[in-house]
Amino acid sequence: MDNNMHDLIIIGAGPAGLTAALYAGRFRLKTVFLEKTGVGGQILMSPTIDNFPGFAGAGATQELIDKFRKQAEDAGVAVVLDEVLSLKEGPGGYELETRQGRYSARSVIIATGAQPKRLGVEGEKRLTGRGVSYCATCDAPFFKNKEIAVIGGGDRAIEEAIFLTSYAKTVTIVHRRQQLRASKILEEKARQSPRIRFLFDTVAQEITGKDRVEGLMVKNVATGGTELLDYQGVFVFVGIEPATGFVRGFLDTDEAGFILTDENMQASRKGIFACGDCRKKGLYQVVTACGDGAAAAASAQRYLL
Ligand code: NAP
Repeated sequence: MDNNMHDLIIIGAGPAGLTAALYAGRFRLKTVFLEKTGVGGQILMSPTIDNFPGFAGAGATQELIDKFRKQAEDAGVAVVLDEVLSLKEGPGGYELETRQGRYSARSVIIATGAQPKRLGVEGEKRLTGRGVSYCATCDAPFFKNKEIAVIGGGDRAIEEAIFLTSYAKTVTIVHRRQQLRASKILEEKARQSPRIRFLFDTVAQEITGKDRVEGLMVKNVATGGTELLDYQGVFVFVGIEPATGFVRGFLDTDEAGFILTDENMQASRKGIFACGDCRKKGLYQVVTACGDGAAAAASAQRYLL
């Protein structure tokens, strides 16, 4: 047998990949666990986690990830920091080219997650890091006593807006419809905050400022009226896009690039499974990512029998 041939390669060390690694370790699969940047994934951008059963509170996300990681390591699967560049068929399975080398395995679990979507308005790119941000946990301290806008009406936007009230003077949630998409419990919290304001039926047209954010040009979609509002920060939370560029054309995805799987996480090629935020599904949460990861590892184990 080829000693370089592994049973399984797991790509991505967020909650889905870490859970897949824990299960793969317990199944005693010969596993390589690759992660591009750092262990944790998108959840580390969230300041708190309130809806992972049995685990909640400020600072809890890092603690949760540390526990996931330790559990996977204790089961025998540790993370290797290396970026996967391509995935293709090879003798006896699949071959991965990475920044630092090559790997072969009979099966692959893709758990590469997603990243925040850009809004795509004028000024956004130029002012990113100069008042435009996609991560309140990372950047909130730079906005002490500032007036800031949060764009989006989903869980992420509302959760981060609430977090930002600990720093900013006011936080204005700019949402394109009348109803928020976020969970009601988050909406209730936001509505109770004296620092949070809402601008409904409103879209951002341009982020303005010479060297730093100075304002936001908005349009009311009901009246058609436009207005330039003063803000020193703009946080954009308008959804996620999957980190699946390296498998486009190789696996079936939807138009946005989310990998299509069956309920056992099987992707369109035998022996390849996808789990967590990179796959097309109905609910994007840490708890469902973990369920996906466990299911993907169990499917890989069955495939390898
Ligand atoms: P999301 O749920 O897709 O919400 C995106 C929001 O941005 C929506 O309100 C959407 O408006 C708005 N939007 C999208 N494109 C826009 C555009 N071009 N201009 C203006 N507004 C735009 O995304 P998310 O909040 O980033 O969350 C991603 C996933 O993670 C979701 O499934 C979410 O439930 C999950 N998540 C869960 C938690 C939690 O459970 N605590 C926390 C964070 C994220 P419309 O409503 O009109 O479509």
